[in-house]
Amino acid sequence: MQIADRNVVSFHYTLTDDQGAVIDSSEGREPLAYIHGEGHIVPGLEKELAGKQAGDKFKVDVAPEEGYGPRHDELIQVVPRAAFQGVEDLQVGMQFQGRNDQGSINVTVSKIEGDNVTVDGNHPLAGQTLHFDVEITHVREATDDEMAHGHVHGEGGHHH
Ligand code: ZN
Repeated sequence: MQIADRNVVSFHYTLTDDQGAVIDSSEGREPLAYIHGEGHIVPGLEKELAGKQAGDKFKVDVAPEEGYGPRHDELIQVVPRAAFQGVEDLQVGMQFQGRNDQGSINVTVSKIEGDNVTVDGNHPLAGQTLHFDVEITHVREATDDEMAHGHVHGEGGHHH
């Protein structure tokens, strides 16, 4: 059956960056399962999966606009180290929940210079072209429960 909306699609994937370094992979794990047409995976990959079927393998390059979006400089802020009271060993790469006009966002510490700490609210993969290597393992109809819950049940999904 060809992948269409309301299908549960299971697939193995390896995601690499422009340099070919592996960012994420399902290798050695259960395949990832998602409900097609619900925007649960990046748009560029979902679009490419449409119409394919179990057993298909493909590679796709997803531009930032169809991936995790472009980087926004205004999401980068410098805050005083005093804002991290209670954090013993502040280091680049640490993630915190921050606040801005839109509510709470996850930020990553990207630079520490003396008392100045730079935090970045961009998604770590924002601005990057994503290189996916995909193998579709299974396609089936979503159940009514899955559509109501908005997630996959069973293998690769929720167990409850
Ligand atoms: Zn559920």
